Amino acid sequence: MKKLCFATNNRHKVAEVGQMLEGIYELLTLQDIGCHEELAEDQETLEGNSRQKAAYVWQQYQVSCFADDTGLEVEALGGAPGVYSARYAGPQRSDSDNIRLLLQNLAPHQNRNARFRTCITLMLDGQEHQFEGIVEGTISTAWKGDKGFGYDPVFTPHGHDRTFAEMTAAEKNAISHRGRAVQQLVAFLKAR
Ligand code: IMP
Repeated sequence: MKKLCFATNNRHKVAEVGQMLEGIYELLTLQDIGCHEELAEDQETLEGNSRQKAAYVWQQYQVSCFADDTGLEVEALGGAPGVYSARYAGPQRSDSDNIRLLLQNLAPHQNRNARFRTCITLMLDGQEHQFEGIVEGTISTAWKGDKGFGYDPVFTPHGHDRTFAEMTAAEKNAISHRGRAVQQLVAFLKAR
């Protein structure tokens, strides 16, 4: 079977995508290909960061691979925190610190529209392909739910009355930014 590396250290993500590619590709982790370093992601866009990680693995290891990058884009904040979502409140800060800062910065605004956006860059035999997944929603004023991670407790997807943190993993994956981007990647790989 053909091999494909998912350039992430998040085992949960690898397991989830691995299931979707079963029988088509053997999904390898960074550890599997002997890459034990922290991959740089210092670009100013989600596209740039996912490309930087996938291109690095291809250049260094000559293994076909893909990488993802996600951000929360809030309309009233001009798309912030965006590519800085993980470290919005500072490099050492937690998910809770990030949410507190987000709610504080949004407090003066009526418009609570936001979206999660995931970019995936695939380097397949040296050729680059990009995929995007978006889920639109709103930022609530109160925290609800204890599942998920990141900004999940304050993000309610359009058409739903629960936050991502109140949904099961399966419910969230079916409609989430990352789920949608991965579905596109898998459809592309299956069609080849
Ligand atoms: P990553 O690119 O998947 O590592 O995501 C970057 C940051 O975006 C994370 O550290 C979280 O703060 C936020 N984020 C990404 N995906 C989600 C999600 O599904 N729910 C909530 N926050 C997320």
